[in-house]
Amino acid sequence: MSVLERFLRYVQIDSRADDSSASCPTTPGQLMLQQLLASELRASGLDDVILDDNGYLMATIPATRGRDADPTIGFIAHVDTSPEMSGANVKPIVHRAWDGRDIILPDDRTAVLRTSEQPDLASQIGHDIVTASGKTLLGADDKAGVAAIVEAAAELVAHPDIPHGRIRIGFTPDEEIGRGANRFDVARFGAAYAYTLDGGNAGELEHESFSADLMRVAFIGFNTHPGYAKGKMVNAIRAAARFVDRLPRERLSPETTDGYDGFVHPYQFESSVDRTSVRVLLRDHVTAKLREQEQLVRSLAEAVADETGTRAEIDVQEQYRNMREVLDRHPHVVERARAAIRAVGLTPIEKPIRGGTDGSRLSFMGLPTPNLFAGEHNFHSRLEWTSRQDLEKAVAVILEIARG
Ligand SMILES: [Zn+2]
Repeated sequence: MSVLERFLRYVQIDSRADDSSASCPTTPGQLMLQQLLASELRASGLDDVILDDNGYLMATIPATRGRDADPTIGFIAHVDTSPEMSGANVKPIVHRAWDGRDIILPDDRTAVLRTSEQPDLASQIGHDIVTASGKTLLGADDKAGVAAIVEAAAELVAHPDIPHGRIRIGFTPDEEIGRGANRFDVARFGAAYAYTLDGGNAGELEHESFSADLMRVAFIGFNTHPGYAKGKMVNAIRAAARFVDRLPRERLSPETTDGYDGFVHPYQFESSVDRTSVRVLLRDHVTAKLREQEQLVRSLAEAVADETGTRAEIDVQEQYRNMREVLDRHPHVVERARAAIRAVGLTPIEKPIRGGTDGSRLSFMGLPTPNLFAGEHNFHSRLEWTSRQDLEKAVAVILEIARG
């Protein structure tokens, strides 16, 4: 069995997450994939392979002789795919020894991968590129990470001559809808630290994420029959529109920022004359700056409420925090990954994530967890792709981290 064969099998199971479901996992396909993974891990000879009631799968590779005193290291990936794009009937296509020409996806010929538009792809000429067929995502996010971990686990069990400490494996559901860490039992996982395999280009190592809050700003107006509304109606839609219009655009917006710049992002609008609410994402790599963003949004909302005769209801909810705040206290965790990436002949690529990962939550739950590449490209898109070579490099990095 190869990592590519495993990957091709996993992507054909529809494990799309569903935000509207309250169950855990949110969809049965995720459980089907977990059951398949559990049977493969058992067949490879892993210990205590347990799929719990919430659909979290964990397993152990015991330490090799003389390495019992090593800290336990975890490897984590998520089995769900993004709700933004269909994951049903995924037909993976392997473009062997790809020659660099446009890749036209057969089920929708408007879906074309061109090197001119895909700089990461341009550097993979000669590799075996894997795409979907044009109507679905591929699911490399994060089945590339899942396949790399399962393959590395099988190799470690089959080759006791590779020395390593105790290793724990964890596969989580519903990461794409922000619930992946919710029911992750850190104590039962029992690792000193871990790595998620859920990243892009070979060599990528992510240990800084955004800190994130969600703000809900609601304007309360007064509704009455519009034919008889003179002097009575107070339209909350007008107030909310004025508020959104005053949010910064030339700076502090996703459309105008990158790197370490944070933003304030209105992304959802629920409207009626009576009550209109706007959801606003607050994002920055420096947690303290979220308070400044909140103050800005509050003062704009209150000014608009004043001018329009509406009332503003505001609440703020913490989403996740920059994992770096935790990882800086455990520098050996990132250093071990850096050394492993170099040991397989790659250059570590370290960029701040403009988002969060399961590791952003897990790090604050007591499990320091940076993110490693798994060869995922064009996340959540019909044009998603990976390559056999990327998958194999991810396996090699896991083996190097284990060896330490
Ligand atoms: Zn992912």
